[in-house]
Amino acid sequence: MSRSRLLVVALVALALVAFFAAGGQRYFSFETIKGQQAAVEGWYQANPWRTALGFFAVYVAVTGLSLPGAALMTLLVGAIFGLLWGTLLVSFASTIGATLAFLLSRFVLRDWVQRRFQGQLAGINRGVEREGAFYLFTLRLIPAVPFFAINLAMGLTPMRAWTFFWVSQLGMLAGTLVYVNAGTQLARIESPRGILSWQLIGAFLLLGFFPLIAKKLVELYKARKVYARWKRPAKFDRNLVVIGAGSAGLVSAYIAAAVRSRVTLIEKHRMGGDCLNTGCVPSKALLRTAKLLSQIRRSKEYGLKNAQVDFDFADVMQRVQRVIKAVEPHDSIERYTQLGVECLRGEARITSPWTVEIDGKTTLSTRSIIIAAGARPFVPPIPGIEGIEVLTSDNVWELRSLPRRLAVLGGGPIGCELAQAFARFGAQVTQVEMLPRILMREDPEVSAFIQKKFAQEGVQVLTGHKALRVEGNTLVCERAGNEVRIEFDRLLCAVGRVANTSGYGLEELGIPLSRARTIETNEFLQTAYPNIYACGDVAGPYQFTHTAAHQAWYAAVNALFAPFRKFRADYSVIPWATFTDPEVARVGLNQTEAKERNIPHEVTVYGIDELDRAIADEAAHGMVKVLTAPGGDRVLGATVVGEHAGDLIVEFISAMKHGIGLNKILGTIHIYPTMAEANKYAAGAWKKAHAPERLLRQVERFHAWMRG
Ligand SMILES: Cc1cc2nc3c(=O)[nH]c(=O)nc-3n(C[C@H](O)[C@H](O)[C@H](O)COP(=O)(O)OP(=O)(O)OC[C@H]3O[C@@H](n4cnc5c(N)ncnc54)[C@H](O)[C@@H]3O)c2cc1C
Repeated sequence: MSRSRLLVVALVALALVAFFAAGGQRYFSFETIKGQQAAVEGWYQANPWRTALGFFAVYVAVTGLSLPGAALMTLLVGAIFGLLWGTLLVSFASTIGATLAFLLSRFVLRDWVQRRFQGQLAGINRGVEREGAFYLFTLRLIPAVPFFAINLAMGLTPMRAWTFFWVSQLGMLAGTLVYVNAGTQLARIESPRGILSWQLIGAFLLLGFFPLIAKKLVELYKARKVYARWKRPAKFDRNLVVIGAGSAGLVSAYIAAAVRSRVTLIEKHRMGGDCLNTGCVPSKALLRTAKLLSQIRRSKEYGLKNAQVDFDFADVMQRVQRVIKAVEPHDSIERYTQLGVECLRGEARITSPWTVEIDGKTTLSTRSIIIAAGARPFVPPIPGIEGIEVLTSDNVWELRSLPRRLAVLGGGPIGCELAQAFARFGAQVTQVEMLPRILMREDPEVSAFIQKKFAQEGVQVLTGHKALRVEGNTLVCERAGNEVRIEFDRLLCAVGRVANTSGYGLEELGIPLSRARTIETNEFLQTAYPNIYACGDVAGPYQFTHTAAHQAWYAAVNALFAPFRKFRADYSVIPWATFTDPEVARVGLNQTEAKERNIPHEVTVYGIDELDRAIADEAAHGMVKVLTAPGGDRVLGATVVGEHAGDLIVEFISAMKHGIGLNKILGTIHIYPTMAEANKYAAGAWKKAHAPERLLRQVERFHAWMRG
């Protein structure tokens, strides 16, 4: 425990000991309070402000230190100050005192509790972040739960102090009124127990649950409203219809079939969607050949005198198609039919909340619908771009001859992966990015690392360049007020992907879109129609195959089992990787985000250039950068740059998901010599920086003593 924490604990303990040693508890009995009424009234008449301030201070101290007696003091305040002023005084004093207790418990215990029970608390933390105000309000209104316990417990959660303050003030108001009012009749009260009748407790309970009930009622009302203009079929042919057979649609349909529901999957184009046909699979196949080429060119580094390579770009692209063909059976109609999914080809259109039409001919009725219609490359409306045949991630796979000069618009993951690959095949690549650096989501040193590597490989990276127009085979950009002209043979656009949201019924049903132009969904992945769900790229906020599959599980289970059981999509640990060479992989926070969001953190960096296996592999570059919560080993996030970073990061994904700290990673045997050892060494670097110096000095003395 830090010194400041120890000091606070000591001060509080001292105050408590002093209170009880001085017999403070004697003053907080009902009889004493009643007996003191006349004397206190006398002070009040003589010094109204001083008495009020004195009461205020004592009240804050009593609640802040979680001492017993606040309820009795409230009665006395009612008797002395009357209903209005008494309520005001108690309301503010109790809230300030409660917030002090909340802050005390937060300062002294929260980090430790969160670290020690991070696995068990993950769900509670998410609940508090989402609906903590509602729950606190309910607890405040129900007099059965001791307030001091609420103050201390809430301090251990992620609830903001300001939220705690105003919800407490509001929530305690009814109880305060009742007690202060009772206090105005103090002389006639026989015991505090009589103040709360069963009827009153019932009313409090109702009030407490009101916000939660109201929320549910509003949801029900909204749902009824959207369905009002549609006629619900009496029976459905299917439990679920899934639109789109990409990563999200395939997993949704698979889950639905696995739990023995009747499910139909509709695909208008190619099974497997983007990932298989135009995304992950072809890009990774292309990158692998490009990497081999680069390794052959570096043959001298591997001790080979001379290694020549001769290749035809058309063969490389043919190989890409071969890889797609090899993976295709995993996503095929045959496989999914065998799994119990009815697979239909055609363009789906939602014609009512319960019906889907295929190619304007067949109509299927279904209890639920999952929209998994994916996204497409965004081509910005730059003047002149319409006059050329732009390459995107959709059509780049059709190339059979290598462009001599390739301009790549976009410095995100797809732009970076393709820019490096094409440069390795021998194209003269210019990468243009409007923002100050490429891979803008990563920390600046990560972007700088990749940009330096690109420069070494001949990719010209132009950051801070805004594309203005296309003039024939020239891309005109603006940089700091000057025009820069970039000649190209082909222009590849990789500036982002837009969700497919039109032409299949969303407009007619009035399903709203988010600000990011994806389908708006709630935490259960329901659209405005609770029986219509969306997942994958069409729903966002992430655009990865693994997040599409992750969401698909929630969408399918919720679509099939709601209203009996619903699960909130869990986005607490989202990883991703950019498959440049070296790869960049991340989970959780990076340093830039932690700073922006004011999240306390410590940074540990291990340089992969020191790793034995990386040295043996001529891959001694990159780093493992881990963010931990101060005062402990809890992982807040990790970034890995290096060979197989996408594989190495998995250890940190598991650590974050299951509450495993760096100490445990350090205590786990990692096989020698592997790249994965980098994770253990990063944990070791953290441990070294947190070595218990005082203890080590004692141990040093012990050894000296042992030597005699
Ligand atoms: C070049 C590139 C590289 C990528 N690399 C990676 C990577 O390495 N790792 C990673 O995780 N992600 C990667 N991604 C992203 C990944 O491909 C997507 O996130 C993922 O494919 C999204 O899956 P989805 O099911 O949401 O959409 P999609 O795969 O787009 O599937 C949607 C399907 O719906 C169909 N459809 C649409 N409307 C209708 C309709 N009305 N009726 C019937 N069918 C319809 C479409 O034809 C399509 O097949 C990459 C993307 C690209 C472009």
